Amino acid sequence: NFKKSLGQNFLTDINILHKIVAAGDVSENDDVIEVGPGIGALTEQIAKAAHQVLALEIDEQLIPVLAETLGQYDNVTVVLQDILKADLKELIRNNFDGKHPIKVVANLPYYITSPIIMHLLDTKIAFSAIVVMMQKEVANRLSAQPGTKDYGALTTRVQYQMECKTAFIVPRTVFIPQPNVDSAIVVLTPLQEKHLEPYSEEQFFSLVKGCFAHRRKSLWNNLQGIYGKNPEVREKIQQVLTDLKISPQIRAERLSVDEFISLANKLSEAKIIEK
Ligand code: SAM
Repeated sequence: NFKKSLGQNFLTDINILHKIVAAGDVSENDDVIEVGPGIGALTEQIAKAAHQVLALEIDEQLIPVLAETLGQYDNVTVVLQDILKADLKELIRNNFDGKHPIKVVANLPYYITSPIIMHLLDTKIAFSAIVVMMQKEVANRLSAQPGTKDYGALTTRVQYQMECKTAFIVPRTVFIPQPNVDSAIVVLTPLQEKHLEPYSEEQFFSLVKGCFAHRRKSLWNNLQGIYGKNPEVREKIQQVLTDLKISPQIRAERLSVDEFISLANKLSEAKIIEK
């Protein structure tokens, strides 16, 4: 009895499990947080490779199953918790020794893929890698480059904080029960080159959202949608775009993360958005 509402699709293929652990380069030097251990198949492979594992599972019926599967590993702790409500800093303090880099490895419940990734990034914990299985279409969005159809608000939000790479595709046939979509493993790692700093992250994120509100409309039209059509404001926005050498007629998908940050900062300097 699987709970579809909790996104329960369990992995069955040992080769895929090994490949996930390898994609995260998990070693005895790493402490690992797993989201949604399910019946513990992936957890077991992580436990064999890692220093310490902390797994958060929301379904209380799985707790005794996990105790059974993972009983022989003394480096695994399973907690009954909703990842979206979990205080990860506190859990890390209580379960890890603070001497090992921390990675996240998970076959995510797909109905909350984006909220989980946002929750992880919002903590600002310096994860040395986040290795997550998700629906292939979402993976494409996370690792998209500017100017492509998959590049959007989610891409910009995540790539602002991490490098994103799709490691490999996983066919739907290796899950029980079989989902309706193919999957992919995405590896997020710390940025190699830091981005510009937004004056306000909140304003930067909301500008990005606003610019992608109507994907097929121009940047100019979306900016008017956000800031209105007051002629004075329009003129200021026009000037900001000219200063940044951004054509108002392009679509938001053409702008890089740094261009969005520059845009947010300039709009703030021009008092179009408040500091
Ligand atoms: N790791 C297992 C595997 O690979 O076979 C199971 C992965 S399954 C796709 C997702 C798991 O996340 C399920 O065990 C589900 O009960 C759990 N889950 C769903 N929502 C959750 C939440 N909010 N917090 C923690 N775990 C959750």
